[in-house]
Amino acid sequence: MSETAEGHVSRRRFLQTTGAVAAGAPFLGSTLAREAVAGTGPQSHGSTPRAGTLLVKNIHTLVTMDEERREIRDGALFVRNNVIEAVGATSEMPETADEVLDLKGRYLVTPGLINTHHHFYQVLTRVIKPDGTLFPWLKTLYPIWAGMTANDIYLSAQLAAAELMLSGCTTSSDHLYILPNDSSIDDEIRALADIGMRFTAVRGSMSIGESDGGLPPDSVVEKEPDILKDSQRLIETYHDNSRHSMTRVALGPCSPFTISEGLMRDSAALAREYEGVRLHTHLAENQDDIAYSRERYGMRPGEWTESVDWLAGDVWHAHTVWLNDEEIGMFARAGVGAAHCPCSNMRLASGAAPIRKMRDAGVKVGLGVDGSASNDTSNLIQEARQAMLLARVREIDVAGMTAREALEIATLGGAQVLGRDDIGHLAPGMSADFVAFDTLANDWVGTHADPVAALILCHTDSVSYSFINGRKVVDDGRITTVDYDALARKTRDAAIRLST
Ligand SMILES: [Zn+2]
Repeated sequence: MSETAEGHVSRRRFLQTTGAVAAGAPFLGSTLAREAVAGTGPQSHGSTPRAGTLLVKNIHTLVTMDEERREIRDGALFVRNNVIEAVGATSEMPETADEVLDLKGRYLVTPGLINTHHHFYQVLTRVIKPDGTLFPWLKTLYPIWAGMTANDIYLSAQLAAAELMLSGCTTSSDHLYILPNDSSIDDEIRALADIGMRFTAVRGSMSIGESDGGLPPDSVVEKEPDILKDSQRLIETYHDNSRHSMTRVALGPCSPFTISEGLMRDSAALAREYEGVRLHTHLAENQDDIAYSRERYGMRPGEWTESVDWLAGDVWHAHTVWLNDEEIGMFARAGVGAAHCPCSNMRLASGAAPIRKMRDAGVKVGLGVDGSASNDTSNLIQEARQAMLLARVREIDVAGMTAREALEIATLGGAQVLGRDDIGHLAPGMSADFVAFDTLANDWVGTHADPVAALILCHTDSVSYSFINGRKVVDDGRITTVDYDALARKTRDAAIRLST
């Protein structure tokens, strides 16, 4: 996408609003300068959209997640370039196309899954402190993460994306809040563009070190003016708010215990100068997190988000395990979204989020695998299964979450949380993001009674085919866009170097 007039207007309005019209002029306590934001407008990132038509036919069951939640036996999809043009039975579709994939009645197709919370870089530090709770776990890992380089960020982002793609994910966000040495958010944006995954890059940040009462060591925090300056640069360089865009940018001060209230407010003000730039952070993850909020700010997390201008429809929070009924109501009314991360919450013994109550109240809920050091896997279809199982345990009720509801949260729910109306279900005009699961895989045999429920109830592990933006990125179980074995070897070597 070329630079838009809107982008110019937005940047100019922002600079005028803040008075930062001359080099070095102060912005909300920062030193944002015009020279420092010399972005050339949003650029096109991600794979070049495919050209031509694609027919996927003889689908065993096509799960559309459309308004009627249609599940079509012997279904088909017709795609033109990167957009779905028709959805229906194979008999209703054109007989051929430039590219044809005949699934021979064997594969179940769903919308691509959407991951709303991750820290890609943590694939480099899986299973370190395997039995720690949140705060001790973080304090062990911060000094290791401080050694990361730009190349580590690139490799880990690609490996995490590959793992996600193989488990059915076609769009992911990533919350990168520690940028040591020569690393930057640009590295992961480049990595995701190269591998061909739709991406929301969250420019994370930490600004309060131990000496100021924060959790991280002082060596890994950034100065707030630098954070804001880089945030604006990233938005203006990469954020593409157009329909079917492959790259968007969000802002994400890390958590109440690593940033200042001023940075929360300034980040919100900056994001809101641009169409479609959302806000993301961690919230109410465990009891220590709640205690910290009470002690430092004298508030519960919900009140705190309101006090820093984050109680709004452009915000989504990771975890929200310990929201009370009042906070659930506040979030529903304001349109705040939640990234539910059941495996991480179980792994760190944080608790079980009140997803049944949140959904019933109208809170937007998506699914997140969370960082690979607290899950420690990034398998999104497995995360959906765990979400269903954990909700049933929490409520001691099978209505805690149905199998189809888990799939809905993983697709439609994720799209709502990321603020996208072009992904999450399959219908004419939607982005061509969909995946195919093999109904003859070992653990699916005998599931003919309800193959859609089987997707969640059985141990489904990986997809056979995946299309992102109309491009085949997984073919017969193998990633087409990267040499996976070489990537795995390089990432393993980077992980070993980092921890020794
Ligand atoms: Zn997280």
